Amino acid sequence: MNDVQKSVIVSSFAPEIKTGGQRIMSSPIQFQTFESESTFLHPRKGFSPFTERFEVRVDPLTGRTGHFSHFGAIKPQKLNLDSYATPEIKGFCPFCLENRDRVTPKFTDEVVAEGRLVRNEACLIPNLFPYDIHSGVLIMTDPHVVPIQGLNETRLFDSLVLGVQFLKKIKAISPDLPYHLMTWNYMPPSGGGLVHPHQQYFATPNPGNQFLDELKASEGFLDASGANYWSELIEVERATGVRYIGQVGASSWLSSFVSLGILGEAMCVFPDVFTVDQFTEGHVGDLVAGLLKIFKYYATTDIYSFNDATTDIYSFNASLFFGPEGQRSFACHFRITARTFLNMRDYAPDLNFFQALLGEPVSVMMPEELCTALREYF
Ligand SMILES: [Zn+2]
Repeated sequence: MNDVQKSVIVSSFAPEIKTGGQRIMSSPIQFQTFESESTFLHPRKGFSPFTERFEVRVDPLTGRTGHFSHFGAIKPQKLNLDSYATPEIKGFCPFCLENRDRVTPKFTDEVVAEGRLVRNEACLIPNLFPYDIHSGVLIMTDPHVVPIQGLNETRLFDSLVLGVQFLKKIKAISPDLPYHLMTWNYMPPSGGGLVHPHQQYFATPNPGNQFLDELKASEGFLDASGANYWSELIEVERATGVRYIGQVGASSWLSSFVSLGILGEAMCVFPDVFTVDQFTEGHVGDLVAGLLKIFKYYATTDIYSFNDATTDIYSFNASLFFGPEGQRSFACHFRITARTFLNMRDYAPDLNFFQALLGEPVSVMMPEELCTALREYF
C-alpha cells in the first residue's frame, strides 16, 4: 500500500466570553483538536491520490481522547419492532404483566417494605443479577414493545420520579454509598438484554471509570481555577454557540465536544444540582421535556423534515450522574447517545476494538452538526 500519513496539526481553543458589559475574559476550559488526514491511491478514482480527513479531540474535562472519522458513513438501521412481539423472538419476558409478580424479586423489608415501588406503569424491583449493593431495575411500561414515540411524558416522568425516589431512599438507608446513578439501555442495539423498556438505578462506591474520572477532574478544575466546570461549560458553549442546543428550565442541553457514542452524544446539565437529594420533581420535569425533544429528533422519519434528513434512531444508551455529599464541583448531568447495528445482515454492533480494547470512543457525526440538527427541536 502506498499510504501517506500526513503530519498532525494541533489546534487549541480557549474561548473568550463576554460577561455582561464589555468585559471579555478567557475561559479556563480548553477545546483541543488534532486535525489530520491520510492520503492513499483510491481504487474507485483510477488509483489517483485521495485524501481523507479525520480528527482526534481531547475531552476538556477528563483529558481523554475521542476519534471522529468515517463521516456520514454509518446510517442507523431500521428495527422491525413488530418482530420483537412475535412469540418466537419474544420468548419469555419476566417484565411482562402476566409474569412480573411471580418471577421478579422483591426488596427486603429494610429497603422497600412494600416489596416493590409502583407509580402508574412504572415498577421498581431489585435486580435478580445485581451489579452492586443496591441495584434496582425500573420497568417503565406495561407493554413489552414500546417504540420511542411511546416513551411519552407520563411514562418518562413516572419512571424517573420513582427511580430518583428510590435513590433518595437508599441514600438515607446507606449513607456510606456515596454515588448515585441511573443507566439505561433501550432496544437491542444498545446492549439491552430485554426489549421491555427498563432503566437501572444504583447507589455505589464504584460508579465506573467515566463517573470517577469526571468527578476527580471536576474537583481539580474547581481547585485550579476557582470555577465550577459545569457552569463554566454551559457559559462557554452558550457564548460560542456551536454546541449549545438549548435551555429547558433549570437545565442546559449541549452536544458533547467528544462523543462517547458513534452517532454523537447529547448532554443535559443541571448546574445547581450536586446530589440526588437536590433533584426535585421540577428537575425531572425539565429533563423529560428536553428528552421528548431529543426523541422527536430520533424518530424523524419524514423525508420532508429538517434538512431532508431521516434520522430513524431506534435505540440508545443514557445515564444520569449524581455526585457525593458535601461537594459543589460535580454537577448532575444526563447523557444520551444513539445506538444502531451496523447492518441487519449479521447484526454487527456499532462498538468494536476501539471501545472494547483501546478505551477510545469513535464518532461518525461531528458534535456541531448534531447540535444544528437537534436545535430545530428545542
Ligand atoms: Zn415484556
